[in-house]
Amino acid sequence: MEYNKIVENIIDSVRPLQGQGKQADYIPALANVNPDQMGICIETIGGAAYTYEKADTRFSIQSISKVFALAMAFSIEGEGLWERMGREPSGTAFNSLVQLEIEQGKPRNPFINAGAIVMTDILCERLKDPEGFFLQFVRNMSGSNTINYNHAVAESEREQGYLNAAIINLLKYHGNIKGDIERVLRFYFLMCSVEMSCRELAHAFLPFADHTKPFDYTDVYLTRSQVKRINAIMQTCGFYDEAGDFSYLVGLPGKSGVGGGIAAVFPSLYSVAVWSPRLNAKGNSVIGMKMLELLTTATQQSIF
Ligand code: GLN
Repeated sequence: MEYNKIVENIIDSVRPLQGQGKQADYIPALANVNPDQMGICIETIGGAAYTYEKADTRFSIQSISKVFALAMAFSIEGEGLWERMGREPSGTAFNSLVQLEIEQGKPRNPFINAGAIVMTDILCERLKDPEGFFLQFVRNMSGSNTINYNHAVAESEREQGYLNAAIINLLKYHGNIKGDIERVLRFYFLMCSVEMSCRELAHAFLPFADHTKPFDYTDVYLTRSQVKRINAIMQTCGFYDEAGDFSYLVGLPGKSGVGGGIAAVFPSLYSVAVWSPRLNAKGNSVIGMKMLELLTTATQQSIF
């Protein structure tokens, strides 16, 4: 596949979209990022990486971290994980409280904030040093030992984190948080603050696309069936109330974050990461979504 030519055309096509959308500013530290940047990296199963624009600039991965948390929680809990959360698309915003109240503290899926907060509770309960373990896992998956938390971003989110505080209180009220809520929230914000580049994210997601090698990183072991199921959840729940549109327009399992990043996989072919900070109303990167839509359209490769 001639990715070079295809991606160069894609970048030309999305440039006029620069300026559309708005970067996340409810986490004050994220508002300092120059919003008019973009990056893309495709890594094929064979290990060839194609990078364009700011593919080596690190950004806040935010909710993309929930995929790593799911890999860890699923490997620890197995099917027992689904006693604490569902695996249905929510059709609501990532930080919605309404559904959680109606469904009595059982989050719809692992990728809305409520589900991810329950996963961080599980990791806090089961691991001696969840922060250290999580970082080591992400470093191993991406093959980059300099990846780190951004404590200033985590702290900035914590200071303004009233909605996530409300979510964890509701979860606790319904008995779905075992640990101390301040402690669990601190880890949740830290997890979201991890900074990675498109190149590092694409590499870290490659094992979700490559079913030929065992998934075994830092004691996080997943069976092939579990990897397939994580992809299924990315497909149905990775973009909150835009999951249907993403499936329609892009057609790949993936996960977005309010830092403007999106990581996606084409099983047995490649992983891809894109980044551009300006978001649409659903909290997903405007240019990022467009780049992926054009990629799967131009390559004419489809998982369907
Ligand atoms: N840390 C962000 C939050 O909890 C993550 C949201 C996201 O990336 N969609 O609100």
